[in-house]
Amino acid sequence: MKKDAIVHLWRYINKNGNSVHINDAKKFLSSQGFNEDAIDHAINTLHKLSFLRYTSDEKGDGYLLQKMDILESPLEDLPCIGCEHLHECHIGGDRYSPERCQYFEAWIMKIRNQ
Ligand code: SF4
Repeated sequence: MKKDAIVHLWRYINKNGNSVHINDAKKFLSSQGFNEDAIDHAINTLHKLSFLRYTSDEKGDGYLLQKMDILESPLEDLPCIGCEHLHECHIGGDRYSPERCQYFEAWIMKIRNQ
């Protein structure tokens, strides 16, 4: 299975209280086998999508990667963010597709009932 640095980074931020030091995130991704280009791409992609922002840490020692607060419900729970199959999932996909995904269906049902 293809490893996805974006998915790993997103899960790492979620597991660590929604805010991690950029150096810790880079160390973690590096330990997972990602090179510098893949790590920078993952951080930049989540930033461009407005899923995270950079903030200074209290010691002035670099940046924290902080999950954006605008990801409230229902996007907060969107199962595709952090899904290991995101890179191979698309409508009509042979292996993975939203229309055949139990997690996506459950998410749709939940927001319909809100
Ligand atoms: S639809 Fe399902 S399989 Fe596809 S990315 Fe979302 S959660 Fe993953």
